[in-house]
Amino acid sequence: MISDRDSYAQFSAERLAAARRVLAAHTEVPWTGCCRACGRPAPCDTRVAAHKVLNSRGRAAVATQ
Ligand SMILES: [Zn+2]
Repeated sequence: MISDRDSYAQFSAERLAAARRVLAAHTEVPWTGCCRACGRPAPCDTRVAAHKVLNSRGRAAVATQ
């Protein structure tokens, strides 16, 4: 049986892994200034959202220390 705490940790880890995949894929193409994955002007909304996920994890880690 999975506790709420374990399932939250699992969810959180998957969210972070997904955010890292987004950052790896949604990079700016230097000669166009657009996102390599979706073609929107970089940084695209997808990349910005992934950054927020990773940054909020950082703040939470600091707050618990
Ligand atoms: Zn993109």
